[in-house]
Amino acid sequence: MTIWKCNKCGSTIEATTYPDTCPSCKEMCEYVDVTCYLPECGGPTSGNINPQVFKESSKADERNFSTQSPHPLQRALSALKK
Ligand SMILES: [Zn+2]
Repeated sequence: MTIWKCNKCGSTIEATTYPDTCPSCKEMCEYVDVTCYLPECGGPTSGNINPQVFKESSKADERNFSTQSPHPLQRALSALKK
């Protein structure tokens, strides 16, 4: 079984192949294979997530977010509102 992580909402799905639309956010998402293939996290038969891959895919999300985010001034203004 492969563990897939939705790149939009970050939820994980355990399935042989990932679905067309994410059952959690109902969007067409890109899926990241976060299955553990290393003995360090239990191996592929353990059904565990590889924490390293999981973390790196989250970092990629943040990178995408920062390139798509508005002007730094707008960001600062929205931060002030919070
Ligand atoms: Zn999703």
